[in-house]
Amino acid sequence: MRPVSSWGRLSRDPHRTLALHEPRAVARALREAQPGVAFGMGRSYGDACLNPGGFLWLTRGLDHLVAFDRQSGVLTCEPGMLLRDIQRLAIADGWLLPVTPGTQLITVGGAIANDVHGKNHHRVGSFGDHVRRLWLARTDGEIIECGPDLAADWFAATVGGIGLTGLIVRAELQLRRVPGPWLRTQTIPYGTLDEFFTLADASEESWEHTVSWIDCLARGGRGLFMRGNHADVEGARAPSGRARRIPLVPPVSLVNGLSLRPFNEMYFRLNSRQSGPRITHYEPFFYPLDNLHDWNRMYGPRGFYQYQSVVPRPVGRDAVAAMLAEIGRSGEGSFLAVLKTFGERHSVGMLGFPCPGVTLALDFPNKGASTLALLDRLDAIVGEAGGRLYLAKDTRMPRALFEAGYPRWQEFNAYRDPGISSGMSRRLLGA
Ligand SMILES: Cc1cc2nc3c(=O)[nH]c(=O)nc-3n(C[C@H](O)[C@H](O)[C@H](O)COP(=O)(O)OP(=O)(O)OC[C@H]3O[C@@H](n4cnc5c(N)ncnc54)[C@H](O)[C@@H]3O)c2cc1C
Repeated sequence: MRPVSSWGRLSRDPHRTLALHEPRAVARALREAQPGVAFGMGRSYGDACLNPGGFLWLTRGLDHLVAFDRQSGVLTCEPGMLLRDIQRLAIADGWLLPVTPGTQLITVGGAIANDVHGKNHHRVGSFGDHVRRLWLARTDGEIIECGPDLAADWFAATVGGIGLTGLIVRAELQLRRVPGPWLRTQTIPYGTLDEFFTLADASEESWEHTVSWIDCLARGGRGLFMRGNHADVEGARAPSGRARRIPLVPPVSLVNGLSLRPFNEMYFRLNSRQSGPRITHYEPFFYPLDNLHDWNRMYGPRGFYQYQSVVPRPVGRDAVAAMLAEIGRSGEGSFLAVLKTFGERHSVGMLGFPCPGVTLALDFPNKGASTLALLDRLDAIVGEAGGRLYLAKDTRMPRALFEAGYPRWQEFNAYRDPGISSGMSRRLLGA
């Protein structure tokens, strides 16, 4: 038994960990180490990748590239391969993954099991839209091969299925052509939520990647809108890639009422001054925090909550405004606040998060009861708006909000593997 945390560092419960390295040994491991659940890079913030008191099947060792067709961009790999390694391999031949989240330090298995989204959801949907085949190992030894056109019900259960339908042991992905590693990008300051929506609407047609940072403590909803398109650029200098690390866990959160307001102010002013067009390498544009290792330590020993919702577009402006007003009143909140519009596409997954609407993601240092009370108030706004919370970020949502937000949860239950259980499955699905 050893203590394991996920990215939010809210708990350190003991787990029995089993490192998987050899695909042929997987069937026996799954049969003998139950109940368990897959653990990739643990970049989920809550309990989707945790199983307190039970087994974690560590998949990072299953990281072989099986095949890569440089003509068609079809790549087959084991589930522990990192998105970063796929990107760095494929870019040399003019390919990238069509969808990546705000970090590339995650595994292919984790990307599928949460059906992760990126800054281009309005154009290309989410990760599962680009998976051609999956091989799923069940704890009874069966291997299920599935895809959008083969055993499509198993595919829909497994994409976004938070690891509960079996262990993904192999995946075949379709990469997308890019002219090179560069993007033409723009940063545009905005002063109100209405300006944000105007910018988002105006950008979706002609910009592939859009996202915004929002100052969650400023009245009105000011922020910085970022957009980018892949570009054919020669002679630009690649970033050094030098990484830094938060060396230790400070005794208290560095993100607090004293630091946050001036920090947001400074960030907004600095970036507003430097706004305008640029040429940017894909790594700093898509994954701005990946070179600051262990940044989650800055929230101190009590960890932090991440709260990500999506609410339908027609009520999106008012719901986001109501959430920001609650946060402003509470004085809690964080620097890492992201607002983005999704396109008109639903996740292929029964429990997939992405759907048409507007999504707001925020970090909150864990201050105990006052933070939980604030999150309850945000739940009420999301529930009223007919929205849902992202399972990859969650550790506390009430079951009623889950069931309302994910109406296919009962259908999903039929595909669960009885040898798999997680903290999240026990909390939200009862087993
Ligand atoms: C800085 C940061 C930025 C992020 N930005 C985004 C973003 O923009 N968009 C977004 O969608 N998400 C984002 N995320 C969340 C992250 O992409 C997801 O939580 C992702 O699933 C983490 O992958 P992982 O390899 O760490 O998996 P883990 O967190 O270890 O596991 C996630 C889930 O996948 C399951 N799983 C893992 N491997 C397998 C397998 N082989 N077979 C079956 N199930 C498996 C686990 O059981 C668990 O349920 C971000 C996270 C961080 C830390």
